[in-house]
Amino acid sequence: MQSLRFIAEQVVWQEVPGEVSLAFTVSGCPLRCPGCHSSDSWDAQQGLLLTDNYLQQRITQYENLITCVLFFGGEWRPEALLPLLKLCRAAGLHTCLYSGLDAVAEPITAQLTFLKTGPWIRELGGLDSPTTNQVFTDLRTGKSLNHLFLS
Ligand code: SF4
Repeated sequence: MQSLRFIAEQVVWQEVPGEVSLAFTVSGCPLRCPGCHSSDSWDAQQGLLLTDNYLQQRITQYENLITCVLFFGGEWRPEALLPLLKLCRAAGLHTCLYSGLDAVAEPITAQLTFLKTGPWIRELGGLDSPTTNQVFTDLRTGKSLNHLFLS
């Protein structure tokens, strides 16, 4: 059975516009973008197991304090990510995935409220850059929210 591990967990305000998100940095990104800011997360064997029980416990602890759960990666193990996303949705929370891919499979997007796509390309910059290749989409409307990241 597939499983995911994470190396960091934090509550964040800026990564998903308008949401207070509990964010997990998932171990094992296979994309190896040059200049990746999270290369310390590439080893899939490191970090704590992100189990259903653990996530449920955290969601209960943060009840009424968070509005969204954000996964930095994890789409490379869809059988492990899907039940976690469903658990968040069942708790009435929004969900967001930051992926380095340009597209993510439909079973995953069906469980997402927000999706960031596109690899890190240093010359183009991240979501706060007007030249970025990355796209942050509100999947409820299909519209890009990139403009909300520009200062
Ligand atoms: S997708 Fe993100 S985490 Fe993965 S290698 Fe690229 S920049 Fe790093």
